[in-house]
Amino acid sequence: MEVSADPPVPPAVARDGVWLGCIACEESFAPFSEIRYVCDSCGGLLEVRYVDRPSFDEFDGRGVWRYGASLPLEKSVTIDEGATPLYRVPDLADDVGVETLRIKHEGMNPTGSFKDRGMTVGVGVARELGVSRLACASTGNTSAALAAYGSRAEMETLVLLPTGKVAAGKVAQASLHGARILEVDGNFDDCLDLVQALADRGEAYLLNSVNPFRLEGQKTIGFEIVERFLEDYGTVPDRIVLPVGNAGNTAALYKAFRELVGAGALSPTDVPKLTGVQAEGSAPLVEAIERGADEVRRWDDVETRATAIRIGYPVNAPKALPGIRETGGTAVAVTDAAITAAQRDLAGAGIGVEPASAASLAGLRTLRDEGVVSADERVVCLTTGHLLKDPDAAAEAGTDPEPVPAALDGVLAHLETEP
Ligand SMILES: *Cc1c(COP(=O)(O)O)cnc(C)c1O
Ligand SMILES: [Zn+2]
Repeated sequence: MEVSADPPVPPAVARDGVWLGCIACEESFAPFSEIRYVCDSCGGLLEVRYVDRPSFDEFDGRGVWRYGASLPLEKSVTIDEGATPLYRVPDLADDVGVETLRIKHEGMNPTGSFKDRGMTVGVGVARELGVSRLACASTGNTSAALAAYGSRAEMETLVLLPTGKVAAGKVAQASLHGARILEVDGNFDDCLDLVQALADRGEAYLLNSVNPFRLEGQKTIGFEIVERFLEDYGTVPDRIVLPVGNAGNTAALYKAFRELVGAGALSPTDVPKLTGVQAEGSAPLVEAIERGADEVRRWDDVETRATAIRIGYPVNAPKALPGIRETGGTAVAVTDAAITAAQRDLAGAGIGVEPASAASLAGLRTLRDEGVVSADERVVCLTTGHLLKDPDAAAEAGTDPEPVPAALDGVLAHLETEP
């Protein structure tokens, strides 16, 4: 008798009744016959649309593919992404001054960020399209996720990173998973311009969040939060607070809610208020919300310790701005000091996150102090990436190691001193 080999990773299988629609005009396109990132006629962002409107009773299984009935593929390349914890933090809720606070920790995904949810769909679509090379520009986590999913799909992967601006853990991931890493002497927005130009010339398939398929995977964060809240409280959260970089998640959550409303699973008046947080040194979306503008102004010089959201021109702003406005949410900027303080607060509750993730809690505190968030609210803060992504930031925010001799007497004597 022979021991049978593991079956190969299943090829992606596209679903019927799916198309790409332009959010700016009436144009629509077949999804899997040609490569396309934006509308041919007006250049607007595309979104994936469906004939079917599934609801919670049609979902089955665990993680992102539990919601397969609402995704453009029936199956895809997977590393068991999604099904992340929604931690209870009653002491932090009291401290911030809200009725309920839960932390949706996306750092608990396979490569340590929510980007995995997007890649399980996006890389599957790439296979469906028959492309040979995948590419992204990245502040770090997108490259880590793309490298992992690309290697699992046995596809060549190219990542463009701004030199010196990517946290150590993320570069290490992209490297070990075997991506070709191009270090660009510029910022993230320069990297994105470059990779978009490469994709336009057919050199690679682009998996930044301008790619509408990635956002389909990421919308499952919204499904998970709503489903869990209905179970735990019989109602949905009043507000979801999240860090904003390219505003892909903001757009994806808004889409999740619209789909649930369309399916009759969520009342239009119950949709959580989408509340975006940026770092003060990198806050073009906050500026647009404050000015009441329909477009964001590109910030050429951006700076923050929260490198994952160090982005001057959020590509998904045309999807995210209506999401924030129509749900009655807002956007707020926080200092790097407030981000570090929030990172310590979360760590104190046992939840280890990278700086960008802590922006959500820092933003919630600011808005509560300003009275924008009220005391009776049930709030979810999204923490987008794991502590180990940025070990340098963690070490700087945390306690310092204390040198001691390798002898019990010396250790005991040291413990007598104040830390
Ligand atoms: C990508 C990323 C963000 C930004 O998400 P957008 O969808 O681009 O707004 C925030 N935090 C972390 C840790 C990320 O990796
Ligand atoms: Zn269009």
